[in-house]
Amino acid sequence: MKKLALHWKIIIGMVLGIIWALLSSFMGWSSFTINWIDPFGTIFINLLKLIAVPLVLFSIISGVANIGDPKSLGRMGGKTLLIYLLTTVMAISLGLLLVNTVKPGKLIDKQSRIDNRINYEIWASSQGYEIKDGINYLKDPAYMKRAQEITELTKNDLKEVSVADKLDKANKQKETTPLQPLVDIVPDNFFFALSSNGLMLQIIFFAIFFGVCLLFIPNDKSQPVVTLVDSINEVFLKMVDLVMQAAPFFVFALLAGVVSKMAGNDIGKVVEIFKGLSWYSLTVLAGLLLMIFLAYPSILKAFVKKIPYVGFFKAMGPAQTLAFSTSSSAATLPVTMECVEHNLGVDKKISSFVLPIGATVNMDGTSLYQAIAVVFLAQLHMIDLTIGQQLTVVLTTTLASIGSAAVPSAGLVMLIIVLDSVGLNPAWIAIIFPVDRILDMFRTVVNVTGDATVCTIIADGEKMLNYQEAKDPTETFELD
Ligand code: ASP
Repeated sequence: MKKLALHWKIIIGMVLGIIWALLSSFMGWSSFTINWIDPFGTIFINLLKLIAVPLVLFSIISGVANIGDPKSLGRMGGKTLLIYLLTTVMAISLGLLLVNTVKPGKLIDKQSRIDNRINYEIWASSQGYEIKDGINYLKDPAYMKRAQEITELTKNDLKEVSVADKLDKANKQKETTPLQPLVDIVPDNFFFALSSNGLMLQIIFFAIFFGVCLLFIPNDKSQPVVTLVDSINEVFLKMVDLVMQAAPFFVFALLAGVVSKMAGNDIGKVVEIFKGLSWYSLTVLAGLLLMIFLAYPSILKAFVKKIPYVGFFKAMGPAQTLAFSTSSSAATLPVTMECVEHNLGVDKKISSFVLPIGATVNMDGTSLYQAIAVVFLAQLHMIDLTIGQQLTVVLTTTLASIGSAAVPSAGLVMLIIVLDSVGLNPAWIAIIFPVDRILDMFRTVVNVTGDATVCTIIADGEKMLNYQEAKDPTETFELD
């Protein structure tokens, strides 16, 4: 057991968790699993997140202060953001290519798509949108009766949505200017930023600011602070090591809980849900797997010659399996940092700066999935998105993935904005909701793998990559 690599132990924990959940669903013990096993999964995520925020703060300060030259920091920052943006646009393009080729929404039976279309037309007219493409079923006498039935059925939903919608829009308009995203990065109260979930960008801003100022004060004043920050950093890294010792057990609890909540005491229900959304799920999965096993290794090969294909996956295994089981790049961040530093040989100065930014703004998996989801939902409602609308999707999915918090289901919530941007009904996220938690696991692996790939490329460009193949990844999290 001792010689087994950590990611294998985590995978065994995951498989046992799923088997346990299926067994408990079959035996009618699901509530036992949810009450007595699932909380350990929550404890695990809490522990990782507890470590992530201070680790980001101290490791960025230490990274920036140790770089020693504000100019090289600026160059590195620019390069990082540019490559992150490129990988995101690449992921979205792959998503759009797949969804326009497979057309998963058109594989659903015609009658329910016509119903969906009528539904959409009713909603669009309630919003004052003009429908330009395709047949207008509301005006077609053959569908008059069905249209009336559907109007009757959706009357109450529409009332609720439009009131909530108007309030929401009014609030948004009051607060936002085009520069709002920039304003949001600068905290007015640092302690508030530290204590609020999802304000990671503000913490990153403060940490860079603090680190840069350390570079500008005399050495005898800055050195004690840098030493202290480095030491605190070590403490948090030790915490990661400790928590990871128990990861396989925690992951068992996490997966048992997730699957039990989905299945309840009726596994058949899960199978039914998946059947209806199987083409959509398969298209998203194909895109995500292509990113992990083809796109990233190819990019890496193009820029960094010395890391072999299998070597990269061996090195990143613990972070990838953890991303899969927690569905949160923020919770996985401490482990991503250790894998990139110890197993891939990236210098701490690079990883402590590039990875926290990546975990917050670079979500290739999320943006690929959002692009597929929007076009799928349009196809399901017999709407053909024009090239112009698909370009809007590229832009808004890029922004939405930057704005998504690195926590479970954040991508689904941000999908509301993407749907809104092309005049589609945001309430449609409910359609894909049932399979979202599973897809979230895969897209989080892509998000984490993307960050690690870019980080390795930057490190190589800065001559701060020291990869040694012989290194045994099993030892990464071993306590001394
Ligand atoms: N769960 C994803 C992450 O943390 C975000 C999302 O797509 O929901 O990376």
